[in-house]
Amino acid sequence: MREIINISINDIKPARDDVLKTQGVPAGSKLSGNVKTLFKKAMALFIECVHPVGIISEISIPEFNIVYAGEGLNEKSTPLDAIIKKADNLVLFALTIGENVTEKINELFKTNEFALGTMLDAVASVGTDNSADCVEKHFTNVLRKKGKITLSSGTVRYSTGYCGWHMSGQKKLFGFLHPENIGIMLLDSYLMKPLKSISGVIVVGEKEIHRFKDSYPFCSDCKTHSCRKRIKALFDAPESHNKEM
Ligand code: SF4
Repeated sequence: MREIINISINDIKPARDDVLKTQGVPAGSKLSGNVKTLFKKAMALFIECVHPVGIISEISIPEFNIVYAGEGLNEKSTPLDAIIKKADNLVLFALTIGENVTEKINELFKTNEFALGTMLDAVASVGTDNSADCVEKHFTNVLRKKGKITLSSGTVRYSTGYCGWHMSGQKKLFGFLHPENIGIMLLDSYLMKPLKSISGVIVVGEKEIHRFKDSYPFCSDCKTHSCRKRIKALFDAPESHNKEM
């Protein structure tokens, strides 16, 4: 299965608390009129500029092992090494909210509108994450219709550049998935253009396969240890999806 997914803007509109959290403002904080106005303006620009689209392609475990090996630069041992062996379904994915929003952010910084530029950047980042949630839910729904999802299923996405999967893994991922079909280019630095894009693998399997300890050598450099929260969320919900690691 290979599919281009047109993502609805209504499904990815960032919640104010999620955006402000990325700027260090705790949920429920009392906001000044200025901050409220900035958020409203940034949201209006986001809706005007954004073009969210995703692409997915199913991949077998042996095929994924080749993609995951990438350029041979991954950490010696990673969470995905063990998880993949036990996965039921895998899909490579890439998505973007388009180049226009990045151009608008750059334009705001060039014209010294730093506060609005920063707010739009935060809105766009949360919107990109929300787009990834949409792609993940879409794939889960496809599997559900085929009867391949149960109450014990867990869906988690993993991206290059995180948890021991080296950024250079993008090269083989692009070779298999061809995100250029939805306008995403891979730069020599392995960053994507448009910048507000996410790629990786969505792993579906028994929830238990996603449980691991954050004791890999590279975890000591990890500022968020976000895997803890995500694994907990997976087991708190009856049938769970999760954000990327
Ligand atoms: S601690 Fe950080 S680097 Fe280690 S597995 Fe968790 S999220 Fe990944």
